[in-house]
Amino acid sequence: MPTLSTDIRSHFPIFAWHSREKKPFYYLDNAATTLKPLTVIDTVRDYYSKYSSNIHRGLYPIAVKASNAYEDARTKVQHFLNAAHPEEIVFTSGSTASLNLLASSWAGHMLQEGDEILLSPMEHHANLVPWQQISAQKNLHLRFLPLDAEGNLQLDQLDSFDSSSIKLISIVHISNTLGHINDIGTIIGWAKKRDIRVIVDAAQSVTLYPLDVQKLDMDFLVCSGHKMFGPTGIGILYGKKEWLQAMPPYLSGGDMIKKVGLYESTFADPPHKFEAGTPPIAEAIGLGAAIDFLNYLDRPALLNELDQLTTYAMEQLRSVPDLEILGKAPKRSHIISFTMNGIHPHDIATFLAQDGIAIRAGHHCTQPLMEHFGIGASARASLSIYNTAEEIDALAGALQQIQSFFNS
Ligand code: PLP
Repeated sequence: MPTLSTDIRSHFPIFAWHSREKKPFYYLDNAATTLKPLTVIDTVRDYYSKYSSNIHRGLYPIAVKASNAYEDARTKVQHFLNAAHPEEIVFTSGSTASLNLLASSWAGHMLQEGDEILLSPMEHHANLVPWQQISAQKNLHLRFLPLDAEGNLQLDQLDSFDSSSIKLISIVHISNTLGHINDIGTIIGWAKKRDIRVIVDAAQSVTLYPLDVQKLDMDFLVCSGHKMFGPTGIGILYGKKEWLQAMPPYLSGGDMIKKVGLYESTFADPPHKFEAGTPPIAEAIGLGAAIDFLNYLDRPALLNELDQLTTYAMEQLRSVPDLEILGKAPKRSHIISFTMNGIHPHDIATFLAQDGIAIRAGHHCTQPLMEHFGIGASARASLSIYNTAEEIDALAGALQQIQSFFNS
C-alpha cells in the first residue's frame, strides 16, 4: 500500500488548519483545483504587503520590483514548458480565457467559411463552447474524433478523416472526467503532416506530466494556474511566436499598444498585445512561486507514487458493491469518475461531505461525454501528490456505508 510522504503535506497549511480545528479533511477534488503550498501563499502576501503596485509604467522602486517579478514569472513558465521565447507565454485568467482568446483571435481571423475544427466529445466545455460560438459567427464546421464504448479516442480512425478542410485540432491531454491520457504525440504528428494547427488543453496534465512544447511541436497549449498549486485567476496561453505575431489582439485598451491616435492605434508585440489592462499581477507572481515549487519537487518520483495510489484507489473502489468506474483506458491518470447503482452522484457527494471527504459530483463540464455514457452525472475523486492511502480507505469505507444505507 503506497503512502506518499507526509513531508509533502507539511507544505500545504490547509492540512494543519483542519487538524488544529479538529475538522476531518480528505481533499479528493484536485481536478477542480489543487491546494496551495505556503510558498505560494507567502509570495502573494509579500506582493500585497511589501511591493503592491501596478506594473510596466511606474519608475519607483516597488513598481520596478513588481514589473520584474511579473516578467520573471513569465520566464519561469517559459522554462517549465521549454518554450523557445518568453514572448510565447501570454498570461490570461485561466484555460477558459486562453481558449476564448484563441477562438476569437486565431480562428476568428485565420479561418474562412467552410473551414473545419476537429475536437473530441470528451472536451471540457471550455474547449467546446468557444468553438461553437466562433463557428456560428464564421460558418465554420465542427467535427469530432469518435470515442469507443469505454470513452477511448479512436485514433486509428484518424486516417479515415477527409482532412482537406480541417485547419485546427483542439484536444484535451488528460480528460478531467475520465482521467484518460490522450496520445497527443500521435495527434500532433498526424496534424503536422497535413499543415493543421494543434491546441493542447493541458489543464489537467501540465502540473505533473512533463510537457515540452518544442519537442512535441505544439502550436498552442493552455492551462490554469490554480490546478498547478498556484493562485486562482491566472492562466497560461503558450503560442508559437509566429502565430502570436500574426494574431490580432483579443481585448484592447491600456498596456497593449505601441501608439494611440484619436482614430487608430498600433499594437505592442506579443505577449503584451494580448494582456490589455492591469493584469493579474499577484496571481502571476504567485504562479511563478508555484513553478518554483514544482521544480523543487521530484515530479517523476511523485507521479510514480501517485500512479500507485491511483491503482490502489481503483482496487478499493471496485470492492464497493455496484460501483462502476467510468471509462477503461490503457493509460490513465489520477482522476476517477464513478457511479453507484440507483444513487444520485449528488447524494454520494453530500453524504461524503458529512465525513469531511471532498469529491465532486455532476457533469464535470463535459455534458456530451456524459451523454456518450448515457448518464447525466457521475461522482469524481481526483488525487494529487499530498493524498494518502488512509484517505482512500476513508473514501472506500464511506462509500460502502452509503451503499448499505441506500440499500437498507
Ligand atoms: N480544460 C480542462 C481539461 C479542465 O479540467 C478545466 C477545468 O476544470 C478547464 C479546461 C477550464 O479551466 P478553468 O476553469 O481554470 O478556466
